[in-house]
Amino acid sequence: MSLNHVRPWRNIYRRKSRQIMVGNVPVGGDAPISVQTMTNTLTTDVAATVAQVNAAAEAGADLVRISVPDEASSKALKEIVKEVTVPIVADIHFHYKRGIEAAEAGAACLRINPGNIGDETRVKEVIKAARDHNCSIRIGVNAGSLERHLLEKYGEPCPEAMVESGLEHIRILEDNDFHNFKISVKASDVFLSAAAYQGIAEATDAPIHLGITEAGGLVSGTIKSAIGLGNLLWMGIGDTIRVSLSADPVEEVKVGYEILKSLGLRHRGVNIISCPSCARQGFDVIKTVEVLEKRLEHIKTPMSLSIIGCVVNGPGEALMTDVGFTGGGAGSGMVYLAGKQSHKLSNDQMIDHIVEQVEAKAAQLEAEKAASDKAAE
Ligand code: SF4
Repeated sequence: MSLNHVRPWRNIYRRKSRQIMVGNVPVGGDAPISVQTMTNTLTTDVAATVAQVNAAAEAGADLVRISVPDEASSKALKEIVKEVTVPIVADIHFHYKRGIEAAEAGAACLRINPGNIGDETRVKEVIKAARDHNCSIRIGVNAGSLERHLLEKYGEPCPEAMVESGLEHIRILEDNDFHNFKISVKASDVFLSAAAYQGIAEATDAPIHLGITEAGGLVSGTIKSAIGLGNLLWMGIGDTIRVSLSADPVEEVKVGYEILKSLGLRHRGVNIISCPSCARQGFDVIKTVEVLEKRLEHIKTPMSLSIIGCVVNGPGEALMTDVGFTGGGAGSGMVYLAGKQSHKLSNDQMIDHIVEQVEAKAAQLEAEKAASDKAAE
C-alpha cells in the first residue's frame, strides 16, 4: 500500500499528457510508464529477432522496436509481428516506403520523422498507411541529426533547436489531422537531453518517449540514463522510456525498470534492498544477493526483500519489506516476514528458504489481487 499521503516528499506529479495506444499498450495520460527496448539482431533473421523480442518481453518490455532498413526487413517484420505478443515499433529512417510497408506489416508504431521523408505526397502516404493500419507514430528528434536549417539558425545542436525540430514535425502530422503520435528529443549529452525534454514537455501535450541516446556500455550507460531519465521522471516528465545501452536488450529492460522502481513509478518483480557489506556481516551478502537475483528472476509480482549483513541496519530495513533476512552470529540470522521478526535460520539454508518465502509471498499477493479485482467487477 502506498503511504505517500503521509510522505508527501515521495510524490511525483506526472505531467498531463494525452493518451495514445501503441497496439494494446496505452502510452500517456495516467497509463503506467512503459518500458521499451530495441533488437540488435538482423531483422531479416526472423528466428533470432523473434527470440530477442520474446526474451525482452519476458524481462518485462512493454514495447520492442525493430529496425527496418530495407524491403527485405519489411517482409521479415511481417513474419516477426505474427510470432510475438508485444507491440512492435518499426524504426524507419528516410525511406517513406519502409514506413508504409511497416504499417502494412502490422507494426504498432512507426518511429519516423515526417519532415525527413521527402515531399508532401510521401508524407501523406505514410500518414495514410499509419491511419489505415491503426499504427501510431513516434517523432524521434535526435541532436545528432538535426535539420540543416536549424543548425544554421542556432549554430549547434541546442535545446531550442531540438524543440523547434519537434514542433515542426508535430505540425506536419497535425496539419494532416493525425494526432496518434508521441515524441522524443534525445541527445547523448544529459544536460542537452534534459533541457530539450523540459522544453518539449511545455510545448505539447503529446506523450513523451524518454531516452538518452548512445548512452554507452552497461555501467556507464546505466548511470547516464539513471541521471538523465531519473531527473526528468522525477519532474513528472515521461510516458514511456528506453534505456540505450551497448548491451543485451534484456539489460536495457532491467535498467529501465530499476529506474522506475527507484522512483516508485512502477514496480515489477522483487525489489532487493541489500547492504554493501563490511567486516560486520554475518554471511556473504554480495554472493547471496547475486544468487538470489538469479533465483528470483521468475517472480513478476511487485514485492520487496531485504538482505542485510548485520543488526546495524537489518531490523530497520526489514520493517519496510515483505521478506527480510538479517545476519547474526554463529552462522545464523533472523528471517522477517511482513516487517516482523519471524524465525531464526542457519546461513547454509538461507538461499532456498528465502526463495520459498518470496514465492509464497508472491502467491499470496497474487491471490489477494485476484480477489480484490473480482470484488471490483
Ligand atoms: S548492515 Fe552491517 S554488514 Fe551491512 S554494511 Fe552495514 S554494518 Fe556492514
